[in-house]
Amino acid sequence: MFYLLKCFIQMKILINKNDLNEALNSVSNLGFVPTMGGLHRGHISLIERSKKECNRTLVSIFVNPTQFNNTKDYNRYPRNKKKDLSILRKLKVDFVFLPSNKDIYDSKRKIKIKISKKDKILCAKYRKGHFEGVIDVMDRLTRMIKPKKIFMGEKDFQQLYLIKNYFKKRNKSKIISCKTIRDNHQLALSSRNMLLDKKGLFIARSISKNLISFKKKMSTAVNIKKKIAQKKKELNVFDNIKIEYLELRNKFDLKKTLKIKNSKVFIGYYLNDVRLIDNF
Ligand code: AMP
Repeated sequence: MFYLLKCFIQMKILINKNDLNEALNSVSNLGFVPTMGGLHRGHISLIERSKKECNRTLVSIFVNPTQFNNTKDYNRYPRNKKKDLSILRKLKVDFVFLPSNKDIYDSKRKIKIKISKKDKILCAKYRKGHFEGVIDVMDRLTRMIKPKKIFMGEKDFQQLYLIKNYFKKRNKSKIISCKTIRDNHQLALSSRNMLLDKKGLFIARSISKNLISFKKKMSTAVNIKKKIAQKKKELNVFDNIKIEYLELRNKFDLKKTLKIKNSKVFIGYYLNDVRLIDNF
């Protein structure tokens, strides 16, 4: 009976803080999936996990201006509200939160996010202010929504690592890590893939395949430092590519390592002017 009732309950679209407070008034065991829209199967996997583990699921769509260190990147970030809402409706999500900048940034907040020197690595080294913006918006959203669990993707591994560490001491919500979803050619799904042309997509897929097999072979490799430097050189010959980093790091503390055990290969690169990241 309860199941039947749930099927008929429509997805609630919450367009401001008041809507949010009203809708969540008596909701417990809420799962939260924060997104910037441009929804794909990666986002969908987080939503499905939330639906499995929580009574209700809320998805937010907010292209957060403060995490973009480049206005052009912010302006052209893929936005398709109509398509996103139709995907969320089909998934029978309970709530969609579509806040405005004002809803998020109007509160008098004194907390200032600082990334420690040891964490200014990988993307934090190349995107000044990016993670400060991400942690700040996640903290603001979480204080408004008060979810039991937050579902986030390993695709953005450093983001997951920093948010987990920040939330550990300050927040009751539990961060749940979810596996990276890839297309049939091993490329991690990303809203930014929509900005690639056919050739760019081909190159990005080749890089993913290449790095997956590189990581596999590495378990028996000697002189790992040299192998990584060689690989970086080899990938740099693709047309219009600029690799920011290609590094092996420990997956628990993100320290640079030459040991394969518990490590991941991290890459951040530009293809034309589209910035892509992944880890293997
Ligand atoms: P975004 O909309 O890009 O800010 O991503 C919202 C959430 O979806 C983040 O927690 C991402 O890590 C996650 N995500 C993005 N792409 C993928 C993917 N291919 N597989 C799994 N999770 C993903």
